[in-house]
Amino acid sequence: FLPGGYGFKSDRSHPRNEGVDDLQDEEELGTARPVQIVVADEEEHSFLLQEAALERLLLREEVQDLNVVVVSVAGAFRKGKSFLLDFMLRYMYRQSPDSWVGGEEQPLTGFTWRGGCERETTGILAWSEVFVMEKPDGSKVAVLLMDTQGAFDSQSTIRECATLFALSTMTSSVQVIISRIRSYAFCPQLFTEYGRLAMKEVCEKPFQTLMFLVRDWSYPYEHPYGLEGGRSFLEKRLQVKPNQHEELQNVRKHIRSCFSNICCFLLPHPGLRVATNPHFDGRLKDIDDEFKKELLNLVPALLSPQNLVEKEIGGVKITCRDLVLYFKAYMKIYQGEELPHPKSMLQATAEANNLAAAAIAKDLYYKSMEQICGGDRPYISPSELERHHAELRQSSVWHFRSVKKMGGEEFCRRYQEQLEVELNEAYANFSKHNDGKNIFSAARTPATLFAVMFI
Ligand code: GDP
Ligand code: MG
Repeated sequence: FLPGGYGFKSDRSHPRNEGVDDLQDEEELGTARPVQIVVADEEEHSFLLQEAALERLLLREEVQDLNVVVVSVAGAFRKGKSFLLDFMLRYMYRQSPDSWVGGEEQPLTGFTWRGGCERETTGILAWSEVFVMEKPDGSKVAVLLMDTQGAFDSQSTIRECATLFALSTMTSSVQVIISRIRSYAFCPQLFTEYGRLAMKEVCEKPFQTLMFLVRDWSYPYEHPYGLEGGRSFLEKRLQVKPNQHEELQNVRKHIRSCFSNICCFLLPHPGLRVATNPHFDGRLKDIDDEFKKELLNLVPALLSPQNLVEKEIGGVKITCRDLVLYFKAYMKIYQGEELPHPKSMLQATAEANNLAAAAIAKDLYYKSMEQICGGDRPYISPSELERHHAELRQSSVWHFRSVKKMGGEEFCRRYQEQLEVELNEAYANFSKHNDGKNIFSAARTPATLFAVMFI
């Protein structure tokens, strides 16, 4: 039931991987495009992370150290994800409050929602360009757009779908679900339980924004289109009623405690040309006015500078660089046969959490040591170097300890010990280099020889 491209064995053999190199070429030409970052492996019934592709997006010099905003649009096939994402792209490229939506005759491009261009595979696509945006307070953030596509309505693939959905929720700061609210009930325990565990450790809600996007809304007289109508609609749908199944009651009670912000947007029908005409290519003139009007509210509600929501894990904002670590950690636990257990999700979060904190601490140490004894610095006495090292190591470890982390004292200590080992190794290297600069020791290179003669 999944045409083309579904069923590849390893990271290497996936045809999209060849595309990764195209990507580099294309980016040089200035043509951004969707890139598959998570692919389904049909034989293994699991998902694969396209690490190289992900790193290429997130470790770019201009974005790697910026806090990241991850907007994921999730839903089944043919739910209009690409359609919406293409409008989001228009907004991101224009970044102008009024004229972003484009010309009447301009076909939609980007996540190319027409059949043929994009193979319908489950997995996560990301836009190859990570956008840099400035928030009203002047801080810069990186915005990653993701298209999460699962076979949400097929019983046989519930596990895969729940896994994918979990991965997308864990890695995004804004999760837009195009579907009926009911569909969310299929793997809620995972999140509510994860949320409960995570909140025991840090008193923050584990996830940021969840938006239910209800399309083809046809009762505007009951609940008007847009966010306002969505709010009253959601209120009603999330009400706990005594005659409901207990599980359903629990979901409704807990879902609010997992997300900082849950909202709902009621979108009108885009018109028959959009829904049924096979030659429709996304131009505005074929889209109903009512729909366009709401689109003008929806997209900025998600992406305007003042509405951007940075990804937080354990109450700490994370950077693009950190996000790579989290993706890797989460992918590991989504490999097995079973649905990931909330405890292992928590463990993976804690692991990536600690790794990210250690990476920053190490970076601090390196940068300061570079200033003291880097390649362009003169030789300093070993005892002085050791004093600096001891001081900087202490502040690096102190920094690691002061960052809010999950996993508990014992767990974090393991990472701290590893950090200390690595700092000592780095020191050994710095010392060796420093010794090499000592012109009074055996002069080895012509440069130092010259220095000796000069003296
Ligand atoms: P995706 O598979 O989720 O990415 O869905 P697409 O964006 O490719 O859209 C699938 C089809 O649904 C296309 O023919 C679109 O024209 C149509 N479509 C997009 N948005 C809507 C909507 O809000 N309502 C209806 N009825 N159709 C839509
Ligand atoms: Mg699509």
